[in-house]
Amino acid sequence: MGQLIQVNKNSYPKNSPKLAWGCIAALMCLFSTTVYAQPHFSAQRERMVLIQLKSRDIYHNATLEAMGKVPRHLFVPEDIQAYAYADHALSIGHGQTISQPYIVAFMTQAIRPKKDHKVLEIGTGSGYQAAVLAEIVDSVYTIEIVDILAREAEKRLKRMQYNNVKVRSGDGYHGWPEEAPFDAIVVTAGAEEIPMALFDQLKEGGKMVMPLGPHGGIRQLVRITKKKGEIRIQEMMAVRFVPFTRDKN
Ligand code: SAH
Repeated sequence: MGQLIQVNKNSYPKNSPKLAWGCIAALMCLFSTTVYAQPHFSAQRERMVLIQLKSRDIYHNATLEAMGKVPRHLFVPEDIQAYAYADHALSIGHGQTISQPYIVAFMTQAIRPKKDHKVLEIGTGSGYQAAVLAEIVDSVYTIEIVDILAREAEKRLKRMQYNNVKVRSGDGYHGWPEEAPFDAIVVTAGAEEIPMALFDQLKEGGKMVMPLGPHGGIRQLVRITKKKGEIRIQEMMAVRFVPFTRDKN
């Protein structure tokens, strides 16, 4: 030890600038990898809630809290995680997308979710919308027609301990009759008409939100309410969604 100090003492004035620059470079390197390569996701999420949701028309507290909590970057492919909190939809592979954060929040707010609600979702995709709902309601049942997406979402949700979400692989057109009735239904794929089996599985007073309209075009996001067994439709906004497909088997 003593020897080492002596040697260092002699060389100290000559080497110190090099040493100092080395340290600065190392620190800068560390800083840039932390700041740029691993973006601060929680700060991005906070900004997303403020700029994309609160400053528009998302005011439902439980929805805002859930959007501020669910780590959206873990629901998109790793190579595009840096864009997870951007103000648009993203591709999740297999020709499908994860909806824009604003649309997820809007649809969540539109069904007026409550703590004791049982909700059905058609179109699990990445599982993100299901996770947002699961933060608010008692239980979520979600169906995905692309088998690999259903299995990946199920694994992801389990890993993240969303134990109140059940995922089913298959055509959601017929709903989930064994678990009906539901307080609310969220359809995250655009359909040309209202799937009546889904409407039948709504509780009296229940709400179903879905993109409705002609294939390939702009659809209307509608809120359907079951009032004395009858359909009440309210148009909410123009949207673009991937299509509601049907299982041919
Ligand atoms: N809610 C998703 C986004 C879904 S995109 C998320 O948060 O990531 C719409 C999804 O609906 C796609 O994954 C598509 O495969 C699925 N889909 C389309 N038609 C369907 C049907 N008949 N039954 C179940 N899922 C369907």
